[in-house]
Amino acid sequence: MDAEVTIFDKIVAGQIKANIVYQDDLCLAFHDVNPQAPVHILLIPKQRNGLSQLSKAQEHNKEILGHLLFTVTKIVELVDELKNGFRIVINDGENGGQSVWHLHIHIIGGEQLTWPPGSSGNQKK
Ligand code: AMP
Repeated sequence: MDAEVTIFDKIVAGQIKANIVYQDDLCLAFHDVNPQAPVHILLIPKQRNGLSQLSKAQEHNKEILGHLLFTVTKIVELVDELKNGFRIVINDGENGGQSVWHLHIHIIGGEQLTWPPGSSGNQKK
């Protein structure tokens, strides 16, 4: 069972307002309240169904996981600024920097993105 209600459950329920980009029966995409790039969209499953984070995924989550990735392409079609490229990110767990315990895909773009992404500089030689 999913224990804690997260802020994303409240967005799905309409209790907290979000700037919605796309939705269907299974998923919802909305602009991140603290954007890290000119375009920063979050894509979530409407039902958490155990997916508090990617590493908790089980066999029964395979369909929604595929649906979320496919939905990224629909969102890119809707948002002109993503047409030249974008990045998707899933933060997992404490070391991954996850802060909301409801699986979400960050869709980031609208400018030239740099690589590699954030690290403390403690890379292995
Ligand atoms: P993560 O750190 O990967 O768990 O990402 C959580 C994201 O949720 C962060 O980028 C936050 O800025 C974003 N966020 C938190 N609350 C809201 C909200 N009410 N509306 C939109 N985005 C939110």
